[in-house]
Amino acid sequence: MGAGSVRVPACHHGRVTELLYLRDATLQDFAAVVVAVDPGEQRVALDRTAFYATGGGQPHDTGVLTWDGGEATVVDVRKSRDGDEHVWHTVGAPAGHDAVDLPEVGATVHGRLDWDRRHALMRTHSALHVLCGVIWNEWGTSVTGGNMEPLSARMDFEFDPLPEGFGPRVEELVNAELAADRPIEVSFLPRGTALEDEQLIRTKVSLVPESVPEIRVVDIVGLDKQADGGTHVRTTDEVGRIRVVKTESKGKGNKRIRIEVLDV
Ligand SMILES: [Zn+2]
Repeated sequence: MGAGSVRVPACHHGRVTELLYLRDATLQDFAAVVVAVDPGEQRVALDRTAFYATGGGQPHDTGVLTWDGGEATVVDVRKSRDGDEHVWHTVGAPAGHDAVDLPEVGATVHGRLDWDRRHALMRTHSALHVLCGVIWNEWGTSVTGGNMEPLSARMDFEFDPLPEGFGPRVEELVNAELAADRPIEVSFLPRGTALEDEQLIRTKVSLVPESVPEIRVVDIVGLDKQADGGTHVRTTDEVGRIRVVKTESKGKGNKRIRIEVLDV
């Protein structure tokens, strides 16, 4: 009885990869069926995945794929730009090997995430939402951009100039919210309902493409609510604490804040 004998239902041949992390960000292991292989780019598309694909400011996950007779490391994960909705997993040789192995279309693979990296990214992403909520509540200022790495991040806000004592004040306010251990809840709202929610309007829910009928909402209860496709920890205390590393001007009306995420 090998994986090759598993019959793949027709519905698994669809062009849309099911994103398991949208409903369960704690999933570290999963089984999936290979729906496409691209030997030239050494990448594999699956019918479902728990690997986060780079997007929304959050970098991709890494980990391993194993199957009957083969193994590969996952080194990059991206959504397809070719009009389909595959998630492509770019693979490398397993540790101690030179040759890259690719599974066949129809094979069942087992995926395992590098959980240290993913959990660090979840803590960092949730920290940035706390930062957004705090800055909105205190100064009524919106975020204009940002980026994150595991346990470090930057975010840009519409300030001109920066308020006096901004860095230390932000650090104090964010860490108080983290210590408050607020729940972080993920839900899915019909588009019409989301477009009427005041907090979601403020965080620009209208920018979600009209083709999306159901909006995923990440709610840091009582602090910040936004349409978001990222992965988050379950409470603010799970983030740890933050330190403001630097604040800098990136031009008129655009100020950058850099943070690092610390263990409690
Ligand atoms: Zn986010």
